[in-house]
Amino acid sequence: MKVIGLLGGMSWESSLVYYKIINEKVKEKLGGHHSCECVMYSVDFHQIKQLQFEGDWEQLTQIMIDAAKKIERGGAEMLTICTNTMHKMVPDIEKNIQIPIVHIADATAEVIKSMGIKKVALLGTRYTMEQDFYKGRLIHNHGIDVVIPGGDDLETIHNIIYDELVLGIIKQESKEAYKRIISTLIQEGARGIVLGCTEIPLLINQSDCDVPVFDTTQIHAEKTVEFALKD
Ligand code: GLU
Repeated sequence: MKVIGLLGGMSWESSLVYYKIINEKVKEKLGGHHSCECVMYSVDFHQIKQLQFEGDWEQLTQIMIDAAKKIERGGAEMLTICTNTMHKMVPDIEKNIQIPIVHIADATAEVIKSMGIKKVALLGTRYTMEQDFYKGRLIHNHGIDVVIPGGDDLETIHNIIYDELVLGIIKQESKEAYKRIISTLIQEGARGIVLGCTEIPLLINQSDCDVPVFDTTQIHAEKTVEFALKD
């Protein structure tokens, strides 16, 4: 089993879920008292959020590179970045470490394609929904059509993540807002919903939705274990 590197804290609410799923999966696969071998570096999300809102992606990139290097020095043989948004920096991080990164969008795309789904809606932070590092990867590397919410709906999805979910606040009215937006996206042709922010599964799950839901936290954590156990 490879030593798993986890770059977490974005937010810790979802890193906790990663740690749980990864250990459960290792136990399921190996049995007995097995658990994952891992090195985790968890950042202070206050600083990350501030810099994101200021648009200082340069400083964010440096923080991510430094954290990834610490994880590698700590003995990790692979890296899982426990957030969709901060995959924006993957190309820069890759240039600065030797260990492989398990990419969350690739892991998710594999599951989408395995179900024969050609068009999905992507929900996540504004950065994940609007910028090309994630959406573009699904479209160009995997041939999946992607729709995102428009205008006010995009704001709603983004604000609920930062004002509530990363703080562990779960509100029924926010769940209803997400469900309404998901219905609109299904009407626009989405045949699957990518929960492309690792905290959204704290609010929404398959029972809230008439089409398949892709829980990126679950998918990424499972892919991490698969990779760790591969020869
Ligand atoms: N965890 C979230 C994501 O998956 C958002 C927090 C962050 O900005 O990293 O995108």
